[in-house]
Amino acid sequence: MSQILIIYTGGTIGMMSDPISKTLVPINFEQIMDNVPELEKLNCKIKVHSFEQIIDSSNMNPQVWAELAALIEANYEKVDGFVILHGSDTMAFSASALSFMLQNLNKPVIFTGSQLPISAVRTDAKENLMTAIEIAKAKKNDRARVPEVCIYFDYKLFRGNRAFKYNSSKFEAFRSPNYPILAESGVHLRFSVNDIREPGEGTLKVHNTLVSDVAVLKLYPGISPTVVSSILSADVRGIVMETFGAGNTTTDQWFVDLLKAAIDSGKVILDISQCKVGTVELGRYETSKELKDMGVASGYDMTFEAAVTKMMYLLGELNDPKEVKRYLEMDLRGELTEA
Ligand code: ASP
Repeated sequence: MSQILIIYTGGTIGMMSDPISKTLVPINFEQIMDNVPELEKLNCKIKVHSFEQIIDSSNMNPQVWAELAALIEANYEKVDGFVILHGSDTMAFSASALSFMLQNLNKPVIFTGSQLPISAVRTDAKENLMTAIEIAKAKKNDRARVPEVCIYFDYKLFRGNRAFKYNSSKFEAFRSPNYPILAESGVHLRFSVNDIREPGEGTLKVHNTLVSDVAVLKLYPGISPTVVSSILSADVRGIVMETFGAGNTTTDQWFVDLLKAAIDSGKVILDISQCKVGTVELGRYETSKELKDMGVASGYDMTFEAAVTKMMYLLGELNDPKEVKRYLEMDLRGELTEA
């Protein structure tokens, strides 16, 4: 019989309305189980690890990611797959981070949660949880069907580092416009076999030294030299720059000079687009040619969540900014499509 480890970190799935404050507050995992008697009917053994501190995912951070990765490592040989119950707000960051932290993964790590608490009459939590478990235990020829870090939400399975939360009020909370969904659940659970990654070769290698020395520079017409220079001179090693269209920026000399100075001082600048669909193409327009020449890294079609966590991961692994740039532009875990 398959064995699944459910790791409960928190989120709306495990919340209840507090009768006095009327706000949503976390409940413990036993109370969750009481709401889903169907769990008993699943043909698998379920182990549960509940975090001591159950959190709203807005309080998620790299220390908790390291704890999650360590738990997965400690149980890796004992179970067939993992389901992580997590708030949807930062789920795409956590799934992206874990995808980089777990090298050579060959078992499913499925994040899920819900928009309504599991105790609510119209909850989406039960379907999300039950199907996430089904996916985590799904095998073909004795091999996991989805040996990846994924997000399962509202009948769809996404590659974790390709998804982002796009809707805070619909059950359809996630999208992944730059990469096809990996599975869809309806009457049947259909896997898109050609889009699922091959399992990692060799043994699982856990990287848990993420460095959060990262700043974000989001451009807009009229951004001032003071704002740009204060972000670029922050005490960080990496900057994720959110640009226009296919990776374009203003060509004003002050802007170009500030970027050049930041790179010369050893900072790594990663260019991702504010567009949710499409890719960065440095050098396609005059407004990005100079970026390419000065050594700005192309983030291609990466999500913001993947870009930030990949930067944290690489800064923890490498010292040389040129090496960080080289790896940022490489597809490491299926997070980008090179042009
Ligand atoms: N605020 C909640 C969280 O991210 C929302 C959710 O669970 O969907 O923890």
